[in-house]
Amino acid sequence: MAKFNAVVIEKTDGGTKAALTDFDEANLMDGDVTVRVEYSTLNYKDGLAITGKGPVVRRFPMIAGIDFAGTVESSTHSIWKPGDKVVLNGWGCGETHLGAYAEKTRVKGDWLVPLPKSMSAREAMAIGTAGFTAMLAVMALERHGLSPARGPIAVTGAAGGVGSVAIALLAKLGFAVHAVTGRPQEADFLKGLGAAEIVERKELTGPARPLAKERWAGAIDAVGSTTLANLLSMIRYGGAVAACGLAGGMDLPASVAPFILRGVCLYGIDSVMCPLDRRRDAWKRLESDLDRQKLAMITREIALPDVFGVAPEILAGQVRGRIVVKIG
Ligand code: NDP
Repeated sequence: MAKFNAVVIEKTDGGTKAALTDFDEANLMDGDVTVRVEYSTLNYKDGLAITGKGPVVRRFPMIAGIDFAGTVESSTHSIWKPGDKVVLNGWGCGETHLGAYAEKTRVKGDWLVPLPKSMSAREAMAIGTAGFTAMLAVMALERHGLSPARGPIAVTGAAGGVGSVAIALLAKLGFAVHAVTGRPQEADFLKGLGAAEIVERKELTGPARPLAKERWAGAIDAVGSTTLANLLSMIRYGGAVAACGLAGGMDLPASVAPFILRGVCLYGIDSVMCPLDRRRDAWKRLESDLDRQKLAMITREIALPDVFGVAPEILAGQVRGRIVVKIG
């Protein structure tokens, strides 16, 4: 396979342009493991990269796609051998290192984790970066000491990728989950995932008061901006918020009142440079703690050429759950 299909982003005079291209294997970047990619996904960040609406890509030309599952084709790495099933998310894939929207990729073996034994490549990518991030957020709340007995957990951006996986995970762990959404028409979908209550997004928009009525023991926030500020003001004494996204904006117009008067903690969640041991733990937890039927319920499959049409949809907040991209 000297040439293969890949979605390549080039720099143009006015910005960037993404197109499906015949990519020459000789132009793959250095790495000690070559992987035949089976599935990737469309994450919010992929939407930004493909449309050029966010400064995600930092090297041109770039193959888009921040995560993949596939089979090792060749390796000089001590751990990986041909035929091994692997997963990769983050590490700059699709940003600084040629990414996942390609039939082949070459990466550092140290970036890979084994595909969990009971999971297919498609299921791993139905989870993808968004689901992995949801797991990291749940683990942060657990490390903080939150348990179902402490009270309900709010999840913002509920009908999106991070949100829908977070709801399924928290519900399976026994938490009462309050799904915050701008799409109340998705109430049945969110309740099917395990949400106990639906909260309208507008309750958390607008300028936040320093402190508001205490509602939730904790929260997972995929939205940022005034939504995160309002959430913080509504967290119960000693609670915590895991912040992982900016779907509503990158700013945080909040006060320190929740931190200094209620002992609330704000945890930052990063999936890209997450250390390997935590990555392995998170994938193990996803294998045991995520209901596969619910995962199937939130998953829609598209083909590689479809990413151009779906990328603007995810940025517009119109995608429900997760999108897997079949490669090859
Ligand atoms: P999705 O687009 O699938 O979900 C985002 C959801 O946020 C939407 O479905 C919508 O949910 C809500 N939303 C969208 N726009 C707005 C808005 N203007 N105001 C309030 N809510 C809004 O994206 P993902 O779930 O994949 O990612 C969510 C965020 O997390 C993104 O910002 C992404 O970049 C970030 N992220 C961060 C990672 C990390 O490592 N920290 C890793 C993965 C993602 P609803 O309709 O239910 O309200």
